[in-house]
Amino acid sequence: MKLLHALLSLGLLAGTANAAENTKVSNAAIDARGLTLGDFPRYKSVAPDIYAYEGFHPSKVMNTVSLIIVTKDGVVLVDAMGDEQQGQQLVDNIKKITQQPVKYLIVGSDHGDHMAGNGPLKKAWPGMVVISTPASQKAMEKNAAPPTELVTDKRTLNVGGTEIQILNLGRAHTGGDLLVYLPATKIMFMSEVYLRGVFPAMRTAYPGEWVETIKKAQAMNANLYIAGHGWLDDAATMKADLEAFRKNLEVVIAEGKRLHAAKAPCPEPQTCEAAKQAKWGAADSLALRDAQAPIALAKIYQEIDGKLPK
Ligand SMILES: [Zn+2]
Repeated sequence: MKLLHALLSLGLLAGTANAAENTKVSNAAIDARGLTLGDFPRYKSVAPDIYAYEGFHPSKVMNTVSLIIVTKDGVVLVDAMGDEQQGQQLVDNIKKITQQPVKYLIVGSDHGDHMAGNGPLKKAWPGMVVISTPASQKAMEKNAAPPTELVTDKRTLNVGGTEIQILNLGRAHTGGDLLVYLPATKIMFMSEVYLRGVFPAMRTAYPGEWVETIKKAQAMNANLYIAGHGWLDDAATMKADLEAFRKNLEVVIAEGKRLHAAKAPCPEPQTCEAAKQAKWGAADSLALRDAQAPIALAKIYQEIDGKLPK
């Protein structure tokens, strides 16, 4: 009993909030931090009036992160949640944080896990402007809150005295990727361009361009890089793990090239023999590896063969 108590007070056993929060593991899995689905949604302030908001991914394996920016003249939300229930919880929580309406929803990722819950947002704030790239607009034709304004390269919003830069730094995870940079606080919300502790997920990715897009974000030398999936820790750790994620991406692409050259077959993810021979190195222990590895290989093969969608 004494030992158990000592371990708990030192935070060495999972099961208490402190133990969970003190465990620095970059693997994105919810249980890797001793958390459960019941711990979500949750949010924390990363700067005055700026909140990182976490729900859980529809797979229930990992978290999903949105950014809430509260200004004197309305709220800017970057990304939403993956189902209606979590979309409603997001609405309820924003209303707890502020009386201000959501004026802008910026689509960092057009994948369902970041926008399938848009219905409740649109219902709560029907006048909300939804901003995406043209590529994401196509992907969101059937969404409850389809984009109403487009960004191809860069757009700067000034809302209630807060400058918000919406950046298309190149195609990455979805092909319609947008990042959001806040110059006053040097916060960079990466959406799914940064999947911290997750095996590079490539269902709609542009593998080579993804690496270059991350390099551009790194060159901006933000203070805090926030990932679209994976834990939010201190700024130095988030920066180091962004570098680690990019390197893992490079490792996965290099392994794909090696297997392609060795003529290991991977015509599509379901029939990817090559995945069985792959050696992922540092990327081996990342969340969702088994599910994502064949998808990534098939996509890397497409890129090598010049068959990626234009
Ligand atoms: Zn996602």
